[in-house]
Amino acid sequence: MSTPVKMNVLSGFRDSHVGRLLRENFRAQMPLYIIAIIAMVMVAATTSLTAWIMKDIVDSMTNPDDRMRVFLVAGAVALIFFLKGVASYVQTVALTRAGNRIVAVQQRRLYAKLLRQGAAFYNTNESSSLLMRLTQSAQSARAIIDILVTGFVRDMLTLVGLVAVMIYQQPTLSVVSLLVGPLALLGVRLILRKVRAIMEQELASLAEIFKVVQETSAGIMVVKAFSLEEKMAGRMNAAVGQVEKRANAIARLEAVTSPLMDTLSGFAIAGVVALSAVSLFGESPTSAGQLMSFVTALLMAYEPAKRLSRMRVSIEASMVGVKMMYDLLDAPETLTEAEMPVDLPAGPGRVEFSAVRFAYARNKPALRDISIVCEAGKTTALVGPSGGGKSTILNLVLRLYDPQTGTVAIDGVDLKTVSFATLRERISFVGQGTFLFSASIIDNIRLSRPDATEEQVVEAARAANAHEFIKELPQGYQTQVGENGAFLSGGQKQRLAIARAILKDSPILLLDEATSALDATSEGLVQEALHRLTRGRTTIVIAHRLSTVLEADRICVVNEGRVVEQGTTEELLAKGGMFRRLYDQQFRAVG
Ligand code: ADP
Repeated sequence: MSTPVKMNVLSGFRDSHVGRLLRENFRAQMPLYIIAIIAMVMVAATTSLTAWIMKDIVDSMTNPDDRMRVFLVAGAVALIFFLKGVASYVQTVALTRAGNRIVAVQQRRLYAKLLRQGAAFYNTNESSSLLMRLTQSAQSARAIIDILVTGFVRDMLTLVGLVAVMIYQQPTLSVVSLLVGPLALLGVRLILRKVRAIMEQELASLAEIFKVVQETSAGIMVVKAFSLEEKMAGRMNAAVGQVEKRANAIARLEAVTSPLMDTLSGFAIAGVVALSAVSLFGESPTSAGQLMSFVTALLMAYEPAKRLSRMRVSIEASMVGVKMMYDLLDAPETLTEAEMPVDLPAGPGRVEFSAVRFAYARNKPALRDISIVCEAGKTTALVGPSGGGKSTILNLVLRLYDPQTGTVAIDGVDLKTVSFATLRERISFVGQGTFLFSASIIDNIRLSRPDATEEQVVEAARAANAHEFIKELPQGYQTQVGENGAFLSGGQKQRLAIARAILKDSPILLLDEATSALDATSEGLVQEALHRLTRGRTTIVIAHRLSTVLEADRICVVNEGRVVEQGTTEELLAKGGMFRRLYDQQFRAVG
């Protein structure tokens, strides 16, 4: 029953993913696999011995006068089964350990890759899909290697051993029974094709489940406020239903191979029994023991043969996950560090855009032609209608994206050539939404400077007007911030962000002022903290408040990806252009 199975499975190696999976993982876990393989050889050998010794069992039992032989056979049987048990145990443990290691290694690789990706990558990849890939596809990698190793070593060797026993005991009958195997494979081939398609759909539904849960958690306010529970439950039900349906479909396909093989084996065994009568009476010297040994080997060969014939189906089912894993690992990195990055020299922090043009993937350009100079130690305010490109300017200073043409430079050094570490060290960013990690308040502030002492953190918090409210929290600085600080107000989160930036003490500061109005007290505290923060730093601020605009050293009006006006407040007010109009409508009203 073996040859066509082997060819069928081998064709899997043409699939480059399988080859690569083995190259990358098998070698790394070699010691564990060697142990597992040795154990598997033992399992295969003891299994074949079990069939082989049937002859002696039967013959010694039908001839009980030879006591010595009976005892020998009994002892051998006990030993064989004991060894088989030990070998099975060692094989399972070694294989599982190697598998767990592979999952861990792949998950670390995947996450490291995600961290290397630029911001553009996250615009097009949903977090729930990334989550699914990280958890599922590493498991698939492990599953495939398990299937291959057990298939090729344990099942294949067991089958070879058992077939050898069959041929040794009953050559003619063996030939007959081995002819039946290939028939079974025709059916398996048909099943294969369907499995891959269904598996792809199943993973898509799985991703949807992750997505629904994540959106429910992140958007719980909206879900509750707009009574979207039923809608969300509907989406979840649909996704869960799909996964269930597809899992059933795959199970059905996998299950159908068993009865197929069962029926064929039944025919084979029946044929053998019938033929054995003929040969028993025809040619004489076949002992009952030989026949028993042969039938036992035939019956035992059925299990490994079945697993081998289903090997491709099982591999196919896991292949989709592995493909997703490699897609992610091989995805081009959207933004990479220069090959020989230079350290950004410690300069005053002058930021310059020269003829910068930039578009987010496949969108119309967000910046059409930007040339601005943000003088060191001065505050440059970016104003203009929403969608004009102000945030994009900050993104380029952070080098979250690269301009398509033109350059962004700090102290005369093109950011494309600079090492990420020195660039990010030189810049602080305080945005509208402050992201807090699930850690204590103190650790959240310390993110910007991990080696800061507690005194330095407290000092920064004081300067940020955050110390007072932190003190009032149940565990003070040690209070754990839940998922993104749900119990903190907007103004409090902003002050934590300011404390981070004060602690970091970098020469360049990027600021995106909050648009939503805070209450007067809170607003006053934030403003005061910002004052302390911006003093003496190169500040680029997206301004929404009149006070910020009035205090800025220079104002750039950004509209449709261009700087349409720039100068001091007085100059621009006098000019009576776009700034004047914005000033009259927007800032006056807010001010
Ligand atoms: P502003 O900060 O002035 O409101 P932005 O810089 O946010 O303007 O946006 C400029 C343009 O770029 C807008 O047309 C916006 O739709 C687009 N844009 C902003 N962020 C992204 C993004 N991550 N992916 C694609 N397009 C974006």
